[in-house]
Amino acid sequence: MTTSFADQRLHEAMARIRRFLDHEQPDTPCLVIDLPTVRDRFTAVRAALPQVGIFYAVKANPTPDVVGLLAAEGSSFDVASPAEIDLCLELGAAPEAISYSNPIKKARDIAYAYDRGVRLFVSDSEQDVRALAEHAPGSSVLLRILVNSKGSTYPFGKKFGCSPEMATDLLRLAAELGLVPLGVAFHAGSQQLDPNGWDGAIADAAEIILKLRAEGLSPTTVNLGGGLPAGYLTQPPPLADYAAAITASIARHFDEFSPEVMIEPGRAIVAESGLIRSEVVLVSRKSYSDERRWVFLDIGRYGGLAETEGEAIAYPLATSRGGVLHDGVPVGPVVLAGPTCDADDVLYQNTCYELPLELRAGDHVDLIGAGAYTASYSSVAFNGFPPLATHCVR
Ligand SMILES: *Cc1c(COP(=O)(O)O)cnc(C)c1O
Repeated sequence: MTTSFADQRLHEAMARIRRFLDHEQPDTPCLVIDLPTVRDRFTAVRAALPQVGIFYAVKANPTPDVVGLLAAEGSSFDVASPAEIDLCLELGAAPEAISYSNPIKKARDIAYAYDRGVRLFVSDSEQDVRALAEHAPGSSVLLRILVNSKGSTYPFGKKFGCSPEMATDLLRLAAELGLVPLGVAFHAGSQQLDPNGWDGAIADAAEIILKLRAEGLSPTTVNLGGGLPAGYLTQPPPLADYAAAITASIARHFDEFSPEVMIEPGRAIVAESGLIRSEVVLVSRKSYSDERRWVFLDIGRYGGLAETEGEAIAYPLATSRGGVLHDGVPVGPVVLAGPTCDADDVLYQNTCYELPLELRAGDHVDLIGAGAYTASYSSVAFNGFPPLATHCVR
């Protein structure tokens, strides 16, 4: 395989991050975000889907430098709470560029959003539609539908969305209550490895929108949610394949109507920009007969690596003793675990990781592609460990 332009850019990003780490020697664990990579990824998504409104999902990485950079690039934002609204507004986003996409919200949080100028909401229940009519009168509402997230590494299950039939009724209700029944939203599951993973939901969205248009309402919009993937140990298909599949699916299901389209990427914008530097705390064995060493890092499930639950996300690793890129350093199998006194704080015991036989306490283990869903998941002080610090390089 030849080195692609994107690989070359990532290589440069890793070099910038390593220079920062060598020079500043920050305390570990820490996350370092390469801001040029964030800009690159945003630009790539915009270029791949030029007619689509991009709403960055703030929860993926709410670091102010990241949100500010994306606001300056012209991104819109998917938020889930008053604090995320304030963050985006403070960093230069216009209220019209914010979608309150969390279907689970308190009435007073709806009122707060409305007061700050937010006029676009996602809902999936009658109670919430009625609360929107009361506390955000005249606003636009997208109804979220339940979808099959086959192909997703990190599916959303049944927590969000309602049946297409119910969504159709709730859009009618929204119109009766004076809201703008804007259209349909869904989330095809995070880290969606199948470029066709949006197709079933797009079909449902088209059916709802076309049916309501035939009745005289005028929904226009489909919100494709998140799901665009990032490269971890498993490399996903290229972004262009997703753009082609999504564009074809919309054209096929909407027939001659051409909908407004929104997308809410989180992971795809920030994951590959980030590297977590950790330190080895302990290397041990559980018995004389078990070949596998246990490597305990100073970061674990509660320090920001929540997505290792079920070993769903497997980060590529690099160590200060080499041993990962077939460099001839002798390696052996390991179980990786975090530093807390919680039995679930084990990162990988089924995913096959091999690390240098020479690995010792004090060595560094870097987790690559760790810019998404890490710092934002870090607990405040479980067992007294501080939350994951974030540094940005330009
Ligand atoms: C988390 C979330 C996203 C982002 O998902 P990714 O898979 O990280 O792209 C988008 N939309 C909604 C509503 C979300 O909850």
